[in-house]
Amino acid sequence: MKWKVIEKNKLPVLIGELTKEYQVFAPVKGNTVSFERVSSGNETYLDFRNTKKSPKEVFFPQTEILFTYRVGKKGVEIEEAPAPRRKMVLLGVRPCDARGFVLVDKFFSSGEHKDLYYLEKRGNTTTIGLACNHPLSTCFCTSVGGSPFGEEGMDLLLQDVNDKYLIETVTERGEELIEKFPWLKDAEKADIEKAKRLSEDAEKAIRSKVSVEGVSEKLDGMFDDPIWDQIHQKCVGCGVCTYLCPTCCCFDVLDEETEEGKRVRIWDSCQFPCFTLQGSGHNPRPSGKERMRQRIMHKFNYFVKNFGESFCVGCGRCVRECPVNLDIREIVEEISTRQVE
Ligand code: SF4
Ligand code: SF4
Repeated sequence: MKWKVIEKNKLPVLIGELTKEYQVFAPVKGNTVSFERVSSGNETYLDFRNTKKSPKEVFFPQTEILFTYRVGKKGVEIEEAPAPRRKMVLLGVRPCDARGFVLVDKFFSSGEHKDLYYLEKRGNTTTIGLACNHPLSTCFCTSVGGSPFGEEGMDLLLQDVNDKYLIETVTERGEELIEKFPWLKDAEKADIEKAKRLSEDAEKAIRSKVSVEGVSEKLDGMFDDPIWDQIHQKCVGCGVCTYLCPTCCCFDVLDEETEEGKRVRIWDSCQFPCFTLQGSGHNPRPSGKERMRQRIMHKFNYFVKNFGESFCVGCGRCVRECPVNLDIREIVEEISTRQVE
């Protein structure tokens, strides 16, 4: 592990250098802060608590052409979508969202059929995280295995120590990237100690605690529990919670035909009425009750069984942005204290 520092006013220079060799994605301030491709360091904005949308769309875009096709002389000709031409750098990812990538990696790389569209982009990317000095009141990463200065899913971690960023190398790939900038100064002991204090303070600042222990086992016996009749009642099925969630990655595939055909994948949401609607008209999840059960079961039971941990990183986006204040922390709390026969 290496420690370097960069003055804040020099970061745009470093990002500018990166854009010469990599496709760089970083937080940009518009109406809201979101991850965009940048062509210079000056576009990047790192003074945010967390972005409204998670960075998952860098690897898993909301709409993605998988391939195009047309009928030619020899029948149907298929043209694969081009792979990313250059290596990518994704900068400014908060620790909860970087952990989200690790979980989505498991999902997309498991089983017989790997999701090459997602995995290729992930494998092609150096991820530079940004530690959280000031978690929000809705953050609960520490309840689900994360922390505000966590390094999981990152190659480098930037830590804001007032007028400069401390840069911690996490992986060999991160170290290789940092070696391209010999002008970066070595960190001093005082910088590292300061970051450690900030990390402890940030951890203490997370007051929101959710008890997920035993919830998966509890849910085993709750498929037909009356709780599902009750907790979905105020949900309006907008899908915001799932679209903003860094780990939700359900999608639909459809064909668009103009002069040439395009096979496209688009985000889906378990909260939409058409989710799992079959061609026959039958839907195994016909109402909000079954759809809310699916969301909670997937996050805290099915994923735990398949991969050993919850499919939630505690970023709090679904809590902050739900238009009817449906709070996943309260749902989990209710499940954990429920008496199940
Ligand atoms: S954001 Fe709230 S209202 Fe919208 S689908 Fe999710 S739980 Fe339902
Ligand atoms: S379920 Fe909510 S709190 Fe958990 S990762 Fe998704 S958006 Fe964040």
